[in-house]
Amino acid sequence: MKISKNLIIMGLFGLATLATAQNKEPNQTKGLAVFEKKGKFQPYEFARHAVGDNDIHIEILYAGICHSDLHHVHADWGKEEFPMVPGHEIVGRVVKTGKGVTKFKIGDYAGIGCMIGSCRTCEACKHDHEQYCEKGAIMTYHGIDRYNNNEHTQGGYSKDYVVAEDFAIKIPADAQIEKVAPLLCAGITTYSPIMFAGVTKGDNVGIAGFGGLGHMGVKYAVALGADVTVFDITEDKRQDAMRMGAKRYVNVNNPEDLKDLSNSFSFILNTIPANYDINMYLKMLKYDGQLGIVGLPAFANMPSISLDKFIWQGNRKIFGSQIGGIRETQEMLNYSVKNNIYPEVKIINADGSLVDEAYQNVLDGKVKFRYVIDMKTLK
Ligand code: NDP
Ligand code: ZN
Repeated sequence: MKISKNLIIMGLFGLATLATAQNKEPNQTKGLAVFEKKGKFQPYEFARHAVGDNDIHIEILYAGICHSDLHHVHADWGKEEFPMVPGHEIVGRVVKTGKGVTKFKIGDYAGIGCMIGSCRTCEACKHDHEQYCEKGAIMTYHGIDRYNNNEHTQGGYSKDYVVAEDFAIKIPADAQIEKVAPLLCAGITTYSPIMFAGVTKGDNVGIAGFGGLGHMGVKYAVALGADVTVFDITEDKRQDAMRMGAKRYVNVNNPEDLKDLSNSFSFILNTIPANYDINMYLKMLKYDGQLGIVGLPAFANMPSISLDKFIWQGNRKIFGSQIGGIRETQEMLNYSVKNNIYPEVKIINADGSLVDEAYQNVLDGKVKFRYVIDMKTLK
């Protein structure tokens, strides 16, 4: 039988179309979601967009539990969309690359933090501060991905993630991979303001709130040679602070501990997720000192500054800081791995009731210092 050339071409064309169509199929995946405000975690199946030319597909290995996840699940910061799969401290292995990808190859480790896209052209993006994108950074979950059909983004308590390679972080093959995930949020959120404040050897630095973020702040400030004082509300963590290299531990519920601290600190980093006395910390700044704020309590429970104290004890600066840009996140990651700076983690299986329990323990101050979910155990 003679097969016409046209038929062969049509056949090949058909196959090619099929391959492209298959590539464009969304990726079905599953994760752990809450279905309402303060809900329990349950399995949830959903789809992520197909791997585009500049995207990588990551099989998630570990996902950290950040207090911001709790704020979202509790709708502390305003209205939320449900079902919600939280998680913005993500590490995994690359299982697929788009044809334009240059930074990653299959088998590499990759990390994803709090954001997965931005306009890349505004002033903030041009300065490598995509988190302050003037058109809005696209968040890893509870975001609308305007570059992928307005997909409602879902986070890292899941099997896999599809992300533009420019928003993924390279993780060295020799990193302690089970401890890396929290670096992608807790690490960069403390590293960035510490660098911005110019912390250097011999500085008197305070870290307020000694949890997931705070303990990373202590490690970075100690590594830079600062004299670090830790502020928290419990006696339970005093020894841990000293073990991590702090010089002093202040239990703010103990008036004795608070003595002689006025005009002491060149920099205080505040990571507290609940209401607190911000004026007390302002008073502890020395002349020309800086207060960097990253902790964001529920909107209904926000601390406020007394303008009188702020003005009468002037020449102190307060700045806010949100995570860090992609360039700085890569810098933090390299710095952390090179200097063996990792979070202290408690690894749990990807089981809804264990995540529920972990959330309660974070609220009750019972975790030292960061829960990480082993996503390979998701059933
Ligand atoms: P954690 O719950 O892990 O840590 C918070 C710590 O603060 C705990 O040790 C807690 O003590 C302590 N604390 C609570 N109240 C006080 C107080 N009045 N004085 C001193 N310490 C106190 O939270 P995370 O570190 O994960 O997150 C902290 C905050 O940072 C959250 O609001 C989170 O949303 C925000 N965040 C901000 C980011 C940004 O880009 N700016 C990024 C990521 C997080 P105990 O454990 O004993 O209760
Ligand atoms: Zn976070």
